[in-house]
Amino acid sequence: MTTEAPAPHAHLSPSESVLNSVYQSAERLQLSPEVVDLLRTSWREVQAQLPVRMDDRKLRIFEGYRVQHNGARGPYKGGVRFHPQADLDEVRALAMLMTYKCALMELPFGGAKGGVMCDPTRMSDTELNRLTRTYTQHIGMVLGVSRDIPAPDMGTNAQTMAWMMDAYGQKYGHTPGIVTGKPVELGGSYGRDQATGRGVAVCMRQYAIMERADPRDLKVVIQGYGNVGSWTARIASEMGFRIVGVSDVKGGIANPDGLDIASLDAWFAVAGSVAGFEGGEPVTNEHLLELECDYLVPAALGEVITEENAPRVRARAVIEAANHPVTPPGDEVLAARNIPVLPDILVNAGGVTVSYFEWTQNIQQFRWSLEMVNSELEKRMVAAFHELMARAAQDGTLPRQAAFDIGVERVGRAILLRGFV
Ligand code: NAD
Repeated sequence: MTTEAPAPHAHLSPSESVLNSVYQSAERLQLSPEVVDLLRTSWREVQAQLPVRMDDRKLRIFEGYRVQHNGARGPYKGGVRFHPQADLDEVRALAMLMTYKCALMELPFGGAKGGVMCDPTRMSDTELNRLTRTYTQHIGMVLGVSRDIPAPDMGTNAQTMAWMMDAYGQKYGHTPGIVTGKPVELGGSYGRDQATGRGVAVCMRQYAIMERADPRDLKVVIQGYGNVGSWTARIASEMGFRIVGVSDVKGGIANPDGLDIASLDAWFAVAGSVAGFEGGEPVTNEHLLELECDYLVPAALGEVITEENAPRVRARAVIEAANHPVTPPGDEVLAARNIPVLPDILVNAGGVTVSYFEWTQNIQQFRWSLEMVNSELEKRMVAAFHELMARAAQDGTLPRQAAFDIGVERVGRAILLRGFV
């Protein structure tokens, strides 16, 4: 990595894109070059070779990572992604985002991320179980309840976390607080499965309140119908928003009068995809991003809104539920078109916030009710939303810049207080 900020229009890798935001904040905050050096580099990067015996008895070697970006504010926290494109640069970018997300939400954590380059949709449960255990054994030495606490992300889920907890426990003794996003039966928190989507919906409702709009008059399009997208759709529709388009990797559907989410879920349970649902018209993923709506919610992959398609976005605002769904050049196009972007490090922070609640419940050995989890989550999301909007108004910055300013400022301050520079 270089110390220079990349040229504004160069094609940026995911980690360069995040660094771009960090450099801009550091400049606005007038941080010293030494602090910036600590903010831009990962504190530890583990890269591991993971040999796994597949069901056909052949040995496959996967590549796995755990990147611990910054631990100045507390133990490292971040998900583990199983995806064919989960390379080191992407994992590094996601680890950085976690550092600033945790700081923005005032959670006592640093940022980390893990990944294994694999296609979980083409692996059996027994293969995934073996891969998860091998991964845990290879990175176990850098984990710990007060050191680094993984969680689920794309391609992983509560079952993956149960395997991780078990594999870790076999070596170090029973340690439920070593991962979050576990099944409730094994010490998981009520409400963790829906937390990210709930946080997205809460942000959307706050934004509507700010605009003095009634959710019932607002049309929402969601890309991705996995954990985040589907819970966003369910909870936002309960709040009154009209969900007029959704998609997943197999295709999308749209209905300007609003999709019936309960019927869509019933269809999904059988078909395994939103594609083919009869309550709407088919639409491609590309076209879905260009549907006319009030709020567009990318909730699948990164880098789906770029300078190429941003001119065709017909939403009034973009609500970033996925991590890094808008590229920096895409961001510039949206800003020039006066389409506000609510940034990922606020919008999808509900997941890590309830992970924090799960971790505290594990340490205290005391379970919270679902009502308590949801109400504490809402309080924190609403507070962070208003803090960010007030900061943006005060400094005349965009919401993403304000979010990074708050996060970078807090991490920079922790670095100074610890006496690192
Ligand atoms: P998931 O694996 O449960 O769902 C991903 C969804 O994206 C699926 O519906 C899949 O079909 C769809 N998808 C995949 N490729 C696609 C493509 N090319 N076009 C359109 N759709 C495609 O993952 P998730 O946990 O819902 O995560 C989604 C995003 O949210 C990711 O960016 C993740 O990093 C972010 N995120 C997740 C959490 C969490 O708690 N799960 C928390 C914070 C951020």
